[in-house]
Amino acid sequence: MSNFLKNFKQFFSTPASPSTGNFLKLKIKCKRCSEEINLNIRKTSDFSRVYEEDNPPSGAVFFLRKEILGNKCNNMIYVTAYFDESFNLISKEIEGGQFL
Ligand SMILES: [Zn+2]
Repeated sequence: MSNFLKNFKQFFSTPASPSTGNFLKLKIKCKRCSEEINLNIRKTSDFSRVYEEDNPPSGAVFFLRKEILGNKCNNMIYVTAYFDESFNLISKEIEGGQFL
């Protein structure tokens, strides 16, 4: 665990290369009013470490959980996504909306 934290810190102190980009872009649609919402997720700050007890998909190291409220209605949209150690998307789930 201490080794992991060390690597974790090193990882985030290293400037991301321009080719991989620092943002993950997702486009979603509200289930209730069909509003389309663009999400820009910062890889350096919006991710959390996956724990075994969360029963993550195999290979998942980080996860993202977001609550999104559009401008046109009060329907809350919940996005959960799992990533490997290189921030490659492994799986994503959505409640209250859909991915575009
Ligand atoms: Zn809506």
